[in-house]
Amino acid sequence: MPERVKKNIQCSIMLLLCIVLSGLDQLHAQTDSTNPVARSITADKLRMLVQTLSHDSMDGRLTGSEGAGKAAAFIHHYMEAVGLKPMEAFAGYYQLFSMEVNEKNVATYNVIGQLTGKVRPDSAIIFSAHFDHIGNNNYNGKKYRSRYSGRNSKIDQLFNGANDNASGVSAMLALADYYTHHAEPYYTLLFVAFSGEEQGLVGSEKLAAIMPTQHIVRLINLEMLGRPNKKGAFITYDRDNNDLQDILNKNLYNNSPAYGKRFFGLDTYSDQQLFMRSDNFPFARAGVKANTIMATSPQDQFYHHADDEWNTLNYEKMAEIVQAIALACQPIICPQ
Ligand SMILES: [Zn+2]
Repeated sequence: MPERVKKNIQCSIMLLLCIVLSGLDQLHAQTDSTNPVARSITADKLRMLVQTLSHDSMDGRLTGSEGAGKAAAFIHHYMEAVGLKPMEAFAGYYQLFSMEVNEKNVATYNVIGQLTGKVRPDSAIIFSAHFDHIGNNNYNGKKYRSRYSGRNSKIDQLFNGANDNASGVSAMLALADYYTHHAEPYYTLLFVAFSGEEQGLVGSEKLAAIMPTQHIVRLINLEMLGRPNKKGAFITYDRDNNDLQDILNKNLYNNSPAYGKRFFGLDTYSDQQLFMRSDNFPFARAGVKANTIMATSPQDQFYHHADDEWNTLNYEKMAEIVQAIALACQPIICPQ
């Protein structure tokens, strides 16, 4: 790539970071609702986060790539800006490890920010989402034509992964922003962006392996929230991890009856084994209550497709779901 093009890309990504960070308070002020969760978790904020994380300069966020490194840098700066601190176990916001990607050994990292609990700082609730995706056609070997990237007649080489899983990471960051300003959590909250998910849940395995899992109260993982199917948000589960739907629905109805009593559904794609296919699973296997909240069908037309672009997401619906998660989880992080 010519140096000038590279510089332009670097400038544009810094500009996006500045816009997102400086725009936060403005967005808070612009929304005239009296409801703090609706003021904080807006469709505009989620759109800006997804646009940044699925920008072409992130190059499809393949684990170990320069593009994934840019995404990680953005996530850690955002965490820092909203007031999360690094975990004591690590020198900064990164948990470093190496793993194999396309038969090469690469260095990579999970990005982790902490909000320390007021009463039980030794016990944690984790909100997580994987930030890696599958890279570009050099990796994938397939050629797709994009209908949405604006490069009409050209082959789209990039798998930007807007829904999978820039949407989950954006939701996790929006929750971090909301809780740092609107909650005094009883337990410590950890906000985690996992790497290496697409190679088989490697990042979540690495964190589960070093955490004192008996001190993790619960993990709530976020996946593909931007293109909700007709039923909306649903929760993956297994025999030992089947209480989250009831807890969230009760909490949400108590707080905001307008959502109804069954806003959160259950995973109905039983043949897809979704519970075992995302970053909740290594924690569930270690005995932690751990589920994934999703909203998109695993058979979605853009799943692992070059057309998984930021402008195919429904940000109004996504904001409604992330607001519901924020409200429904509030009594979990601050039990009475
Ligand atoms: Zn995913």
